[in-house]
Amino acid sequence: MAYKWVKSLTTWIFIAFFGGILAGHFLGESILFLANPMAAIFINSLKMVVMPLIIFSIVSGILNLGSGKNLEKLGLKTIAYYIMTTAVAIITGQILVSVVKPGVGAENLLQSDISHIPAAEGSIVDMLVKVIPTNPFSALAEGNVIQVIFFLILFSMFTLKLNEKHRLMFTEFFQGGFDIMMKMVHIIVWMAPVGVLGIVARIVAQTGFEAIEKLLAYFIVVVVALLIHAIINMSIILKFLGRVSPIKHAKNMLLALQTAFFTSSSMATLPLTMECVIEKSGVPKKVANFVLPIGATVNMDGTALYEAVAVIFIAQVYNIELTFVQLIMVLITTILASIGTAAIPMAGFVMITIILKAVGLPLEGVGLVLAVDRLLDMMRTTVNVWGDSCGSVVIAKSEGEELKV
Ligand code: ASP
Repeated sequence: MAYKWVKSLTTWIFIAFFGGILAGHFLGESILFLANPMAAIFINSLKMVVMPLIIFSIVSGILNLGSGKNLEKLGLKTIAYYIMTTAVAIITGQILVSVVKPGVGAENLLQSDISHIPAAEGSIVDMLVKVIPTNPFSALAEGNVIQVIFFLILFSMFTLKLNEKHRLMFTEFFQGGFDIMMKMVHIIVWMAPVGVLGIVARIVAQTGFEAIEKLLAYFIVVVVALLIHAIINMSIILKFLGRVSPIKHAKNMLLALQTAFFTSSSMATLPLTMECVIEKSGVPKKVANFVLPIGATVNMDGTALYEAVAVIFIAQVYNIELTFVQLIMVLITTILASIGTAAIPMAGFVMITIILKAVGLPLEGVGLVLAVDRLLDMMRTTVNVWGDSCGSVVIAKSEGEELKV
């Protein structure tokens, strides 16, 4: 009992975190030869299981629902819930950045070099049309998750129309595939401390933290808004919509939240989100298998909040007063942009240009917030994963399921 903490993975991750800070700080870039492979072993192992996991999970989730009607009900509920929480996150960010006004009077930021910034191509409409894959196999090979999910939902809907014998055969096959992938995940989680040590050492060795100083007010607004959404908004939703204990659920999610923070990728974290939600919070597989992969792909509360704050901050620096109609435009385009944001590091930053374009703000303004993106990415990804996990709990409860929270 006294040595229980030795066995706890989350404790080892905390130890690795502090070890990484020390190694990165004292050894500097000379630690990279070790830190890079340590980080890659963990992140690559997670990425290795993600695509097969999504295939088995979505198809078995939908087939276990049993009918097109149940799928329709769960699908609509999931999308409505995700859009609602994303809108709440954006409005939280919009209110805070409009009250604190971190960009007002910060014109000196415009003198910095803001060329060579990655920008997203195309408009929101192009983005929506691209959801249909012209070749599902190349979408799979390229890791285009939203296209893969679109195909899988159609595939599962038509599988539900097969005769019983064939339908059960497919259900068992995909359910078995899902269980195999989760067994692999059980082993991969034990690499987390090694990965975290490598990731943290690399960040500390390579990141110049001076950049935060100039953007301190903006940085604090994003962090406080993320905290308000994750702690206050989501607790209210969990308590009143889900009737579950937010603290208990947060404790269950610790491993996935730590991983989201260190990898800055909701997609790479998905295997662990599923593990925590199913094994610890007790969400039934038939709900989690459908709700979580879709959540990781389209539901990004943290990213949406961050993008909205960034856009309004940029307008403030350029001394452009946004009208109420433009603020509504920011809300709508940010919901769509966050749906289209890939669940990988820095994707949210790249999508800011799409919102700037839609609202008519200078595109090069995105360069203003680049310097602190890496750190904010860690935080917004954690909020993204937290939001997905809360979604699966609330939706499972609304389906009348008994959970462990
Ligand atoms: N890194 C985020 C995620 O994976 C996306 C973003 O860049 O905002 O959820």
